[in-house]
Amino acid sequence: MSSLGTVAIPNSVPVSRAGAILTIDLGAIVDNWKTMRDMVAPAEASAVVKADAYGLGAIPVSQALHAAGCKTFFVAHIEEGLALRQVLPDVRIFILHGTFPGTEAICAAQKLVPVLSGMAQVQGWTAFNQTQDSPDPCALQFDSGMTRLGMNQAEADRLRDDGILLATLNPILIMSHFACADEPEHPLNAEQIERFSQIRKNFPDIPASFAQSPGIFLGADVHYDLVRPGIALYGGNPQPHLSNPMKQVVTLSAKIIQIQDVDAPQKVGYGASYIVSKPGRQATVSIGYADGFLRSIGNGSERPCMYGCALGKYKIPLVGRISMDLSTMDISEVPEGQLQLGDTIDVIGEFATIDDLANAGQTIPYEILTRLGSRFHRVYINSPHPGPETDSPNKDNVVS
Ligand SMILES: *Cc1c(COP(=O)(O)O)cnc(C)c1O
Repeated sequence: MSSLGTVAIPNSVPVSRAGAILTIDLGAIVDNWKTMRDMVAPAEASAVVKADAYGLGAIPVSQALHAAGCKTFFVAHIEEGLALRQVLPDVRIFILHGTFPGTEAICAAQKLVPVLSGMAQVQGWTAFNQTQDSPDPCALQFDSGMTRLGMNQAEADRLRDDGILLATLNPILIMSHFACADEPEHPLNAEQIERFSQIRKNFPDIPASFAQSPGIFLGADVHYDLVRPGIALYGGNPQPHLSNPMKQVVTLSAKIIQIQDVDAPQKVGYGASYIVSKPGRQATVSIGYADGFLRSIGNGSERPCMYGCALGKYKIPLVGRISMDLSTMDISEVPEGQLQLGDTIDVIGEFATIDDLANAGQTIPYEILTRLGSRFHRVYINSPHPGPETDSPNKDNVVS
């Protein structure tokens, strides 16, 4: 952990008292970034660390990536950019949401580059830059077919035709965003690429960026000058139709509070949605939907989910509904006596990836990660996993 030094980890509960342990493998994040860096060269690979690096900790994640050579970061909010600037004084930081009126000066003062997505933001930046000795840089976002953020072709033409406006804006990047990159055959991909290529003709000397994680896997012709991976850094599958080329980053291990023998026809959990069918053993563990272990993952007896446990080789189905703070699991396969109070069962890990959980909960891995709660003991490691944490007071809350 040399690159991190010794820093207190926000949102980390001492391990002895925590209900679950969230382990974040910074080495795997760095390896995932290097995989994409090598794939897209000579284009540059940035890192998208918005929403606290998808819930995994923007500061430690960005520091590890910076130490590995990443020089450009994207966040959504100005506030996220300000926090990152405190620890990384020299990197490029783009603000995806751009500016709100009156925030231009703080962006410029902290060298945060706003991504301007409409003529109102453009006018705000122009007016601010007219008060400056030299214009501060921005990025310009164009809509190529998603209709979420970005200026249209007519606005792109207006900017091209007004040289003074463009010079006052000082754009250093033009960008757009794919709506369907995770479906390579979707016809909108080709439409978006075509529209962006028209827009780029207006700004031939300005570097361009289009691809997020799944976009990167669409091929070299959409890498342009800079790519913007997010989810793939954190282990999400950028090509949901193919096997995942990324390393898993997150392990979430929930502690057992109670073990009990069960027999048919006992009912388990809220709504009595699960009925025990044969004698066995059940563990009640300290993780629930308030921790981001989504209620939709459980959903009663029709869809029991399989989880690997800390012991590695047993199937541990989730049974009954997920409560706010608790889940129940069938540990009948684990030999009696092997699991005890305080032992952990992995609910995210080798046997249940963030993509598996997303499928079970009818959502996407992005939501699994960004919903992760604040009641965990957090551990940052470089791969490989160093084994169980000790409970010494110095190790609680601290990376060393
Ligand atoms: C979130 C975001 C990204 C990263 O997307 P992933 O699919 O997580 O790689 C890239 N660009 C923009 C504009 C985004 O909003």
